[in-house]
Order: sequence, then structure tokens, then C-alpha cells
Amino acid sequence: MTAGRDAPHWPSAATTVVGIIGDPVAHSLSPLLHNAAFAALGLDWVSVGFAVAPGRAAAALEGMRALRVAGLSVTMPHKSDVAALVDERTAVAERLGAVNCVTRRGEVLLGHNTDGEGLVASLRHGAGFDPAGRRALVVGAGGAGRAAVLALAEAGASEVVVVNRSADRAAIAAALAGPVGRVGTPADAADADLVVEATPVGMDGVADDAVPLVDPAGLGAGQLAVDLVYRPAQTAWLAAAAANGAAVLGGLGMLVHQAAAIVAAWTGRDAPVAAMWRAATEVLDGP
Ligand code: NAP
Repeated sequence: MTAGRDAPHWPSAATTVVGIIGDPVAHSLSPLLHNAAFAALGLDWVSVGFAVAPGRAAAALEGMRALRVAGLSVTMPHKSDVAALVDERTAVAERLGAVNCVTRRGEVLLGHNTDGEGLVASLRHGAGFDPAGRRALVVGAGGAGRAAVLALAEAGASEVVVVNRSADRAAIAAALAGPVGRVGTPADAADADLVVEATPVGMDGVADDAVPLVDPAGLGAGQLAVDLVYRPAQTAWLAAAAANGAAVLGGLGMLVHQAAAIVAAWTGRDAPVAAMWRAATEVLDGP
């Protein structure tokens, strides 16, 4: 009898199950990315979406232990709840107080946060940009913004300026960068080598009248503008920055690389990034 993912009735009772918890979750590309990786690696694993209501993260993690689910990706609104619930956290997850990936080792749940390393990998692979010694400005101080600030500082950025609508959250985010972090204003973008737009402004489904804090008209040649939004693939903010001569990068690379780091954490294997990238672009570029 053929076993594993080549069996005629795959998945089977022996298939290892992982997934993503969130609310909503049906729109998530994570299972697609994970499953593309498992197929490329020839692993008898499958990833699915679990719609877990706000406040039910503890029950979901207990279910993970009971059902022997090997790993969970974590998205809104559960990232900080899960950080408080897991048995162990990586240093990055501890600093951020947010977990986007849980790995189960027997009964022990380990929490990671791969958003920041996903961003830095996408800068390196997608734009040939190494943050070491460069001046960065991050717009936004939510989960994605804070992960970006910490990762850019850890990657050696010489300065990480945070610009955010709410001053209190800006200060919390800037503190993550230690001595190279500070709260700034949109005018600081003129001096930045890298500007990361980490708010939902420009995202499909967000009001069209939301105005970006940093005017893309002020960006230009010699600067890299990154928008973490990946639906649409290129926001109006990114298109305007490109029209002014800035190098630009959308959010899909970060999405793929954070998922690749999760696959590596779960399986102990190098993630097949090219196969994951192909799967993501087939869906997002499709009709
Ligand atoms: P979040 O935790 O809700 O934080 C949202 C941030 O955006 C806050 O700093 C908020 O400012 C700011 N903001 C919201 N609306 C704004 C507006 N109209 N004008 C100015 N600032 C506004 O969200 P998140 O998880 O950080 O996600 C932010 C974006 O990144 C989303 O578009 C998300 O899809 C994207 N993202 C992409 C990836 C990827 O892999 N590419 C990963 C994670 C997130 P206040 O602090 O003042 O409220």
C-alpha cells in the first residue's frame, strides 16, 4: 500500500496536522504556504485554518496538546494571548510579547515570533538591502511595526525612527530598538535609507480616505520604500514612491519568509522558499 502524501486517499490518519488560529481566518494564505512547503519537502503533513474566537486561545492550545497538533501559526487577535500562554518563548517573542508560531514538543509549547526575521529576509532577498549600518524609519507601532523595529535594530541598523499616530505606542515601539531607537516625525523620512509602512492604510478593505503619515512624494532615489500590505500587491503609497524614483518592495516577501521560518521551526528542515513564493503569487496574481 502506498503511504504518505502519495497515497490515493491522502491525507490519512497518519498525517501530521498543523494549522493557523485566528478570527477571521478563512482569508489566510498561511495554509497555502505551509502546504506548498510540505509538498516540496515530500512531508506527510497538512495545514488547515482553525477559526478561534477572541478569548479562546487557551482552549485552542489545550486542544493542540490533546489532538497532537504539531504546530500552530497565530494571527489576530491571539498573538499576545498566546505569548502569555505558551510554556517557553524565544527571546524575540519574549521582547515583543507576541507569538505568531507555536511548536509542540511533547506537552511543551514553544512560542516564536518570525515576523521581523521575515521582513529582514525579504529585504535581503527581495531588494538586496542589508539593514546593517543603515537608517530606517518605521511607520506604525502595532504588531507588525514593533516586530519590524526590533528586527531592524537586531540586524544592525544605525538608527530606527518610529512614526505613529498614537504617541504612547510609538514610544513603546522605539524602546524595542534600544539606543538606536527614537520617536520621530514624518519629516525624518527624508534622511532614511529605508522607510517601512507598517499600517493597514492602502490595504484592500480599508477606507480609501485614510492618508499615509509619510508622504511618498518626499521619497526618492537612493531610498527603499517597503509596504507590509500585500493585498493589493502594490499600494498607491508604494506606486507613488516608485514614481519618484525610490526602490520599492511589497509585503508578500515578508509573508512568505515569516511562513518559511515557521515551517523550519516546525519541521527542522530548510523551508523551500521558492515553492512557497510560487504558491503565493499564483493565488494573489490570479483572477
Ligand atoms: P495593528 O497591530 O492593528 O497596528 C496597526 C498600526 O497602524 C498602529 O500603529 C495604528 O496606529 C496604525 N494605523 C491604523 N490605521 C491608521 C490610519 N488610518 N492612519 C495612521 N495609522 C494607522 O496591525 P498590524 O498587525 O501591525 O498590521 C499592520 C499592517 O501590516 C496590516 O496591513 C497587515 O496586513 C500588515 N502585515 C503584513 C505582514 C506581512 O507578512 N506582510 C505581517 C503582519 C502585518 P495607532 O497605534 O495610532 O492605532
